Amino acid sequence: MDNGRVPMRILVINCGSSSIKYKLFGRGAEETLAVGVIEGIGGKRLTHRHRAADRRVTTETEVGDYDQGVSRLVEALTEWGSPPPITDPAEIAAVGHRVVHGGDRFSESTVIDRAVIEAIESLETLAPLHNPANLAGIRAARELLPGAAGVAVFDTAFFSTLPPHAYRYAVPARWWEEFGVRRYGFHGISHRYLAERAALLLDKPRPNLVTLHLGAGASACAVRDGQAVDTSMGMTPLEGLVMGTRSGDIDPAVVFHLLESGLPASEIRQGLERKGGLLGLSGDSPDFRRVSECARAGDPSASLAVETFVHRIRRYLGAFLVQAAPCDAVVFAGGIGENSHEVRQLVLAGLESLGLVVDGSRNRGNGERRISTGRSTTDIWVIPTDEELLIARDTADLIHQ
Ligand code: ADP
Repeated sequence: MDNGRVPMRILVINCGSSSIKYKLFGRGAEETLAVGVIEGIGGKRLTHRHRAADRRVTTETEVGDYDQGVSRLVEALTEWGSPPPITDPAEIAAVGHRVVHGGDRFSESTVIDRAVIEAIESLETLAPLHNPANLAGIRAARELLPGAAGVAVFDTAFFSTLPPHAYRYAVPARWWEEFGVRRYGFHGISHRYLAERAALLLDKPRPNLVTLHLGAGASACAVRDGQAVDTSMGMTPLEGLVMGTRSGDIDPAVVFHLLESGLPASEIRQGLERKGGLLGLSGDSPDFRRVSECARAGDPSASLAVETFVHRIRRYLGAFLVQAAPCDAVVFAGGIGENSHEVRQLVLAGLESLGLVVDGSRNRGNGERRISTGRSTTDIWVIPTDEELLIARDTADLIHQ
């Protein structure tokens, strides 16, 4: 909505450990005006790709931090394009930020003030790679766009409805009381988008679902009556499915075995977080497309990587179908879930007796669609996720209250 004097724009910023992704929305959150990514923050070279209307610009500069990144993106929004998406930064009424960890404190999106910033800071130990980057983006936006309201949208918030038996680990209670050891869940912005979108598509306001977000990071979520009741990710985004470089589930005793065998803790962490997953198994790449190409070309390690990836998804699918029973739909999303008909086929193979029947030709199609046959008692959908849109909508809702 425009307020009559200046057009109201909402900027969505997603600061990762070395990148800033952004999207500028107009008319509340219903129109995308510009989209871009700045990669290489903190490194030697910064690459900025920006698209507005039919204009695409790519630039490279040397070193840069989040402040410079945000300042560059604001510059791009006012200068690149004919006409550029905005003429004055003051047109940006609000900035919606993706914040990875909201801990126990945030169960929904919130307007950012000093107390919120302090609370996000206090959660840094739980998300040491992500929350500091998110905060750097928040600080940069407050400084460079002082007239814009800030809104934090948390990746953990969708899981605030998990019951204690789903979020507690069976460990000494003191670990939970003193150290906050529990499952928090991540990718909640994506899973919530998928659940809300599925509710519309199924014409059922509170559906039972299994949502599978399969990208570089991957997670599964069980949804009952429209609310999250379980998730594959844990206290950190390391637990659960096999990911690009993350191991997912592992017997914690492996860590003691390796420590006692003389491997330094830092190397074990590196192996589980950065050198595991598809990369670890294939010995070649964290990128699913590349790994599956190598598997098709006959590389046995790559084949094992694909098989393990699929096997782990099926494990969670089985478990979460039970939690979401009677399940209205299984939803695939994320770079792999959306684009790989092969993965969907492998995940769903032989599940007709569970009521999941894939339509081969719909499975090979594109875009948002149902890919199950009329015989399938549980729907199967591909839904391209849109985390930025959800952030923009929450931001618009909060600043209009
Ligand atoms: P991120 O978590 O970084 O947003 P994405 O959701 O973009 O990640 O997913 C990236 C993954 O999707 C990569 O492993 C990539 O290889 C995979 N991918 C993208 N397109 C395809 C495709 N057409 N077929 C198979 N995998 C794909």
